[in-house]
Amino acid sequence: MTELSSSLQQTKGLCVETIAMSHPSSPPPTGLAAKGAPSRAASTTAAAPPPDDLPEPSTTQELHLAAQRGDLETLYRLLDHPTDRTVTASDPDDQGITALHWAAINSHILFAKALLERGAEPDVRGGELDATPLMWAARQGHLAVVHLLIKYGADPTLVDSQQFNALHLAVHSSSAFLVAYLLNTLQPLAVDSQDPEGHTALAWACYQGDAISVELLLRAGADVLKTDHAGLTPLHWAVTKGNATCIRRVVQAGADLVARTNEGKTAREMAAELKSLPAYERGLQEAGLDPRDGRKEDLPFGDRPSAAIFVVAFVAFGAMFETFALLAWYTSLILVGAEAFAMHHVVSRVILGVRPASGKKHSHGHGHSHSHGHSHGHGSERVTKSGYLCAIIAASLAWVFYVWLSRFVLQLSGYSVTSLAFALLFLLCAYNFFRAITLDPGTIRGPVGGSEELKEVVEELVERGEFNGINFCLTCMVRRPLRSKHSFATDRCVAKFDQLSRLLFLFYCPWVWNDVGANNHRQFLLFVASLVGGVLLFARLTWAYFYEKAPDLAPDAYCPALVPALICTATKYDPFAYAVAFWACLQLTWTGILLGAQLWQVARQMTTLEVSNVGRYGYMGGKPASVGASSQFGAAVAAAMTPAGTATPDPASLAHAPKPADKDGKFAYLLKLLGLDRFTSRGKAISGLAHATRGDVVNPFDLGIRTNCVDFWTRGSELGVEYERLYEIPAGGFRRAMTDRRKSVSSVSAAAAAAAGTPGSAAAAAVKDSPASGLVGLLAGMKRKMRGYERVPLSEV
Ligand SMILES: [Zn+2]
Repeated sequence: MTELSSSLQQTKGLCVETIAMSHPSSPPPTGLAAKGAPSRAASTTAAAPPPDDLPEPSTTQELHLAAQRGDLETLYRLLDHPTDRTVTASDPDDQGITALHWAAINSHILFAKALLERGAEPDVRGGELDATPLMWAARQGHLAVVHLLIKYGADPTLVDSQQFNALHLAVHSSSAFLVAYLLNTLQPLAVDSQDPEGHTALAWACYQGDAISVELLLRAGADVLKTDHAGLTPLHWAVTKGNATCIRRVVQAGADLVARTNEGKTAREMAAELKSLPAYERGLQEAGLDPRDGRKEDLPFGDRPSAAIFVVAFVAFGAMFETFALLAWYTSLILVGAEAFAMHHVVSRVILGVRPASGKKHSHGHGHSHSHGHSHGHGSERVTKSGYLCAIIAASLAWVFYVWLSRFVLQLSGYSVTSLAFALLFLLCAYNFFRAITLDPGTIRGPVGGSEELKEVVEELVERGEFNGINFCLTCMVRRPLRSKHSFATDRCVAKFDQLSRLLFLFYCPWVWNDVGANNHRQFLLFVASLVGGVLLFARLTWAYFYEKAPDLAPDAYCPALVPALICTATKYDPFAYAVAFWACLQLTWTGILLGAQLWQVARQMTTLEVSNVGRYGYMGGKPASVGASSQFGAAVAAAMTPAGTATPDPASLAHAPKPADKDGKFAYLLKLLGLDRFTSRGKAISGLAHATRGDVVNPFDLGIRTNCVDFWTRGSELGVEYERLYEIPAGGFRRAMTDRRKSVSSVSAAAAAAAGTPGSAAAAAVKDSPASGLVGLLAGMKRKMRGYERVPLSEV
């Protein structure tokens, strides 16, 4: 095994060295060959321009230096106004490296474009590895440059002297968006092409632990069973890295668990050797397999355990209330705790088959940083996804209803109105609970993978410099609308996603066993509101019930000094009803906070996520602070992608392309790009609420409480948007878009009325109610740039 891994280490090492070697930030161009081939060292030192004793650099060298700096003025001077010295755009140095190589590896996109426009050959080979500029750019993950080169006819299927094609190199760069771009815009692409040792791009991605690239490659049809020349499958390589997510993905894609390397080792044996067995077992388990033998896990209720969970929760809650009724409170507390634990055990271990995490002590240091970032184990993930909490709510509702039916309806005579109101609220609550669960929350759907439409979407975003995690979801392969969010619980993007967890300081709390988004938020709010109202009425009925029915305490009965007498009589008279009412009232704490926060957010047109963004960054969404440099780069990309001649590049502003953000900021930006930022900071909701309350934040969606509430209720038709397809904010803001739309509607209807000679009101109403017309009006007013829904520093407001 050590041999195998060292062989790959060597390859990898070579590749890393080449990057370091050809990276301009280390030594300037002349250092390149000196570090590379010793045989050429003499000639390169000759070419290098030591300060004094040699003639000034040749024009070719001057052009190459300008390419490294992105110095467009020099390019114009050398190529557009040639003096006596002659140089062309594709003049190579003695290693075959051209200015285009340097522009490509440094991501100087305008410079590269200027060279290509002046006849630079896109597929020219040069350097140590006999590579094209496309390969240099791909190795660095410079997506926009790769796209530009391909647009100018570069061939992405070529291989360098190491037999790496653009896809291999993109995987090496760990740039998932570049991998996604190549896989979705180029067809046919040799996904399974092998380097000299037989490694496919998938094997490389597994070795590097790039879970997203692994998934992209698998979705593009990469062969999960392909072995390299040492007999290692991608699963073996994933085990080498010890990244559970990669292991899970290849296992789910049908990896052969018992495939043996040429040395006769299975992936499991290799994992044991490399001490990555915990990751291997976790990967198997997350894929729904038995971590020990890799067989499909045999769960008693299969993949649909929800009914069983509900029954268990219902019975367990009944038992807990009954325990409380039968025993003294101090004894019952212990027993109730035991019963709750038993319920949890039955649901998680028996029904859902969650096993205790094994070997946790050994798991650190092995690809943990790359794994999904869940602070809880995979077991709790399975529990939260199962609808368990939803079953607890449903069971509680059922017992409350039982108590109401068995006690209050039959025995309480003077409270028929309250009782009826409770029944109505209960029905409303149950119905909206059901609807919130069953409705689609507003899943974002896009074109099918590999289709021409998807290719168009991807290319358009690349040309706008917006093919990144803020604007595109790699998991769903869809363009992200504003205010949408990828839900990790259900693995889909949801429009106007409302994340409820932060306010409750829980990691993920699927009370309704569904995401809450644009489409079911109304139902969710009604559910919470009717829950709060229902509990209050239930408490009122319970009080009346005990007040009227419970006999007074016997004079000699014991009642602790600080406890109201009514509680003593209640627990004596009907402890079961008392326990149910107590449990119901306990729910008032979180539901009350939730209802208040939700109403406030609806009135302010903010989602929970946006509130927490305000708390963290001082703006609602869109662009994180650390991308400032990058959005400038985006502008450069957009300029470069416009047809020749129309762009007027400003050398001063474009000479310095993306500045690397500081380490911390870069990391945060990376998380943001990958959509993982939600794992890093929590509990900022409160400061977000504080900022938003003070009005520190410009919210383009906020048009006053009345409009906000109407828009919430009509799912966006007040603003005239479909949240599933809202990518930009209209140029003049929503208020102007609304007035423009109204004007155009009224003029249309006036014209229609004049033409038809009928009263216009009916026609106007009809046009106004159709969301399509509103959308057309909005689209007409749209401009490229977002307004408002981007960084608004608190200090400037
Ligand atoms: Zn998504």
